[in-house]
Order: sequence, then structure tokens, then C-alpha cells
Amino acid sequence: MNTQDTTRPLEVACPQCRKKVLWSETNPYRPFCSKRCRLLDLGAWADESHRIAGEPAMDETDLDALLAKADRDGEPS
Ligand SMILES: [Zn+2]
Repeated sequence: MNTQDTTRPLEVACPQCRKKVLWSETNPYRPFCSKRCRLLDLGAWADESHRIAGEPAMDETDLDALLAKADRDGEPS
């Protein structure tokens, strides 16, 4: 499959941390800069009732649990 020319990668701001990130097929977490930011954002909307604007929606412990869960994705529940 032809992947077009990538001479002009699109640059977007990570919705979570606002860091500039290239929208590239090599970035599986786009539009986020990282898995961490993607999961943080998922946690934010999944847990919206506890959400405080501008604040992280979860702490590092919760994130570790989410990451562990994400590593098992693809398994039927
Ligand atoms: Zn980010």
C-alpha cells in the first residue's frame, strides 16, 4: 500500500498537554503526544463527574492501572 508522500507532516497540539506533536502514521497515539496523554484524556472523559477543569483527572497510580489494562487490549472481555 502506498503511503503518500510525507514531506509535509501535519503538526497538532496534544489535546492533553498542548505539546506540539507530528500527526504521523508512526505515532499510534495521535493526536496525543504519547500513550500517557491519550490515557489521561480517556480517563478524563470516562470519569467526567470527578473532572476539574485544568487539573489532571487521575494520579500516577490510576495511570499505571490503565496502562496495564491497555496492554491487554485485543482480548475479548
Ligand atoms: Zn501530551
